[in-house]
Amino acid sequence: MSNQPVAEDSREPAAKAELSAPQRALLRLGLVRPIDLALHLPLRYEDETQVTTIARSRTGEKVQVEGVVVESRVELRGRRQFVVKMTDESQAELVLRFLNFYPSHQKTLAPGQLVRVRGEIRGGFLGREMVHPTFKAVTPGAPLASSLTPVYPTTAQLPQPYLRKAIAGSLGRAPLQEVLPPQVVPAGLPSLRAAVETLHHPPADVSLHALEDGSHPAAQRLKFEELLAQQISQLASRAERALLRAPEIAPRAGGLHEKLLGVLPFGLTGAQRRVVDEITADLAGPRPMHRLLQGDVGAGKTVVAALAAAVAMDAGWQCALMAPTEILAEQHFAKLVQWLEPLGIEVARLSGSRKGKARAKAMAQAASGSARLVVGTHAVIQEGVEFARLGLAIVDEQHRFGVQQRLALRRKLAIEGLEPHLLMMTATPIPRTLAMTYFADLDVSTIDELPPGRTPIVTRVFADTRRPEIVERIRDEIAAGRQVYWVCPLIEESEDAENAAAEHAGKAEALTLQNVTDTHAALAETLPGIGVGLLHGRMKPADKAAVMARFKAGELPVLVATTVIEVGVDVPNASLMVIEHAERFGLAQLHQLRGRVGRGSAASVCVLLYAPPLSMIGKERLKAMAETTDGFEIARRDLQIRGPGEFMGARQSGDQLLRFADLEEDAPLLAHVRQVAPELLARAPGAASAHVERWLGGKLEWMKA
Ligand code: ADP
Ligand code: MG
Repeated sequence: MSNQPVAEDSREPAAKAELSAPQRALLRLGLVRPIDLALHLPLRYEDETQVTTIARSRTGEKVQVEGVVVESRVELRGRRQFVVKMTDESQAELVLRFLNFYPSHQKTLAPGQLVRVRGEIRGGFLGREMVHPTFKAVTPGAPLASSLTPVYPTTAQLPQPYLRKAIAGSLGRAPLQEVLPPQVVPAGLPSLRAAVETLHHPPADVSLHALEDGSHPAAQRLKFEELLAQQISQLASRAERALLRAPEIAPRAGGLHEKLLGVLPFGLTGAQRRVVDEITADLAGPRPMHRLLQGDVGAGKTVVAALAAAVAMDAGWQCALMAPTEILAEQHFAKLVQWLEPLGIEVARLSGSRKGKARAKAMAQAASGSARLVVGTHAVIQEGVEFARLGLAIVDEQHRFGVQQRLALRRKLAIEGLEPHLLMMTATPIPRTLAMTYFADLDVSTIDELPPGRTPIVTRVFADTRRPEIVERIRDEIAAGRQVYWVCPLIEESEDAENAAAEHAGKAEALTLQNVTDTHAALAETLPGIGVGLLHGRMKPADKAAVMARFKAGELPVLVATTVIEVGVDVPNASLMVIEHAERFGLAQLHQLRGRVGRGSAASVCVLLYAPPLSMIGKERLKAMAETTDGFEIARRDLQIRGPGEFMGARQSGDQLLRFADLEEDAPLLAHVRQVAPELLARAPGAASAHVERWLGGKLEWMKA
């Protein structure tokens, strides 16, 4: 179709060396096709549509004036600077001051020149002045700008004027024609082309305020477009999934899952029973389950996973359980072996670090079908691992499985036309707004109740100058027979995105390691006679497992660790968690870490140590942590602080989820979109797919994951 940008899409960068610096910067920002440029919208605007007189301009005002340069010279008093004196028809004088300047400044601002300058008026020593104004030479009577001047988000290598020109030049070529039937577009909104043009070059009389806060109809149109594309793609992937088939697995009375319930040392909570029912109903159906099980840290998701696996295994299918870290996989393995082996189930363990014979054995167990359950890291679905009859895959601590991973999973079930069921589990609940949008193709079960007998965790925030008090607290805890985690942050040496990634990662790792070993040594010294364990990512898996086992057995009262213990680790006797440099952690991460305590009946405390001064975001995060232990509330605030892209960890992949719309602010638009999207998909599938292609293009696969 003519409106699709595909034809112009040559994202393959030409020989990079031949490009100029601004061209390379454009490429880096993903501004390649005319449509990319057209959708790169201004951050704000400058008003160059009017000039005022020097006499009438007041201190603090941002104005444009036009006049003649009377005098200009480089001054050497104090700091070297270029100082220009100008005057206009009002006969008042204005001083322009440049601390950085080039020969081009001196040329354009030479005495006698007619210039237009724009900047903020300051009351200087010598009367009115502007520091670093923008300026240009004009001819008498040169017309003023007829529209507001856009100021685009950019980088140092990409000068604003260059970017402006590139964008203005591409607007006409960008394929912006309407693809949507007019009745789906909310009444009163302009066409897409008109909206984009208005946003880049707003007419002089437009309400700047409405443009900048997104309430202007032109801004609304873009938000609408974006939300619609996202919603359609979710609906489409749900519809696609509905055509797939999966093993129909019905639970059997007196079957394995009932036996497992019989040997558990506790009864299920009402919420656990409910979600088990929801999952078994999916397993019994003909379509592959695509369900997210969310439950706050410590809510008891593992046993729910085990019961779902038991239902599938009882019907003769194999199951895979995947965890994001080896430590967590190890822990799941230990727990599941303990529960299931007495019931005659063979459990195999597979992970990236298990090599040689152990790996060969696990692979043989999976391939022959003798292992009914395979537990491990994501190595479980790697190339080369075969299953005899994989019926259910369970992914712990992950919101969503990527497309590649899903395809890999599908290949593990050798029966043509069938796809394994998929259950994802997460302790980071999805805020309602995201559940309606990015996760619209997922079914969600929620454990909204903690097992009985838990005492809420008390969270305290301290400046790290109060370490000695904390160490005393540790002594008390140990004297009472309980255990302590001390978590050290991942240290990023610099936030500089230009840093060579690999070198950066290496340095960060070395610093992190240094910090965790130093902390360990210091604690071991101040706590003589007390076992202080050390755990970090660079240790050999066997050593990690050994330290973890000693901590779990209570032999080591204190464990100093990096975030390798972030998710899932379950040692109910631990009752004090100290997180140092808590300001460097994300909110979801802090919540996960805190969830390592408060898992038993002892009252637990989480101490967040920070190094002052705190940034605004840092302050907000620590405040949120101190104020609530409710994972839903934490997730909501996290979304507020970071926005959806970062919430979902999309920043690393360079993908932004929403560029224009805001799920909270634009709730009315979202409601409209949710209403029209299914109709559009049903009645005008061609328009729907053209729309999605324009907006999501290459991101589409990723969105569907
Ligand atoms: P999470 O949801 O964070 O993965 P886990 O599955 O690790 O939580 O469970 C946390 C702890 O609670 C474990 O020690 C688990 O054995 C225990 N547990 C789970 N369900 C119950 C229950 N219904 N009653 C008592 N303890 C439970
Ligand atoms: Mg867990």
